[in-house]
Amino acid sequence: MHVPFLDLKAVHDQIGEEIERAIAEVVATSAFAGGPFVERFEQEFADYCGTRFCVGVGSGTEALWFSLLGLGIGPGDEVITVANTFIATVEAISMTGARPVLVDVVEDTATINPELVERAITDRTKAIIPVHLYGLPADMDRVVSIANENRIPVVEDAAQAHGAESSGRRVGSIGAAGCFSFYPGKNLGAYGEGGAVVTSDATLAERVRALRDHGQRSKYYHEVVGWNGRMDGIQAAVLSVKLRYLDSWNARRRTHAERYTKELSEAWNVRLLQLRPNCSHAHHLFVIRTPARERLLAALKERGIGCGIHYPVPIHQTGAYSALGYEAGAFPVSERLAREVMSLPIYPHLSDEQRRIVSKSVHELSQPAEAVGAGATR
Ligand SMILES: *Cc1c(COP(=O)(O)O)cnc(C)c1O
Repeated sequence: MHVPFLDLKAVHDQIGEEIERAIAEVVATSAFAGGPFVERFEQEFADYCGTRFCVGVGSGTEALWFSLLGLGIGPGDEVITVANTFIATVEAISMTGARPVLVDVVEDTATINPELVERAITDRTKAIIPVHLYGLPADMDRVVSIANENRIPVVEDAAQAHGAESSGRRVGSIGAAGCFSFYPGKNLGAYGEGGAVVTSDATLAERVRALRDHGQRSKYYHEVVGWNGRMDGIQAAVLSVKLRYLDSWNARRRTHAERYTKELSEAWNVRLLQLRPNCSHAHHLFVIRTPARERLLAALKERGIGCGIHYPVPIHQTGAYSALGYEAGAFPVSERLAREVMSLPIYPHLSDEQRRIVSKSVHELSQPAEAVGAGATR
């Protein structure tokens, strides 16, 4: 049986009729860029996250960029984030003209190390961006308390964590701003690109609203230099439909994650990441660690099992960010993770049978060749 890494068609098979009706409504009213469908989704998503405001934008990258701009961040400033993330987190910092200051992550959870944040703070630090990587909330209690002591706003990169909770609060609602991506493969995915900023700060919401629309507050009265970063009406209508399924889909991801954890507990040479207490994980990705990654990936691929690597190169070792001047060894945990992590298929429409095939295959294929030959079982 083939097990793809992601199966967006299965989602459409479940909700296609509703989606097509929603798209037809947008077409009937030509509300393609911004407009009432976007406003409706913004209200629904703000309610879902537990914030006063939501501003729909064109992507998660824009959500991060506009949040930082809205907080007044620019050249001469520093913004702290992790070396172990998707590059968009850091690109958004660069786009404001500020300098990205990277810190390492905690080995067990692959999320930001609060102690290192504390040490990286300078007079120029103007924001901290914890990333809720793979769907697991970062250690928000500690990050927020450090940020508050230093009067620095926290911008949450929640692009992989729609619906996750930390100490009973939805991610995105904990910092000054929460940034989401609706890229199709995310837990809440559009039928194209999309993103959103959620916040309970009226001034920040207003600024982000202006930034996504050429810096205008009313048509052709441009008060600041902005951008075209509006959300599409069609994407908003699709997201309104899919938002109603998000909790049940996340619950299904959680079930898969719990079963994978049991099924893989004895797998040879395979380590799992840990959960954090007082958190609800959105399980965007199910990440395992193995020193023999390339061999295991190739063997799984041969069996028709799709996997991913999130991410093979830590930020400071990318070509894009070599100029930051961090040397190899600067972030040992991120560098180790980059060598060892791989992501197994996890999505709501993955069947139990498919998941068991993946677990069984990881068990069989992670064993060293000699052990297989000798008939070892572990
Ligand atoms: C997907 C993602 C982004 C960027 O979102 P886009 O919608 O693709 O621009 C930012 N940060 C993280 C952690 C992501 O996974």
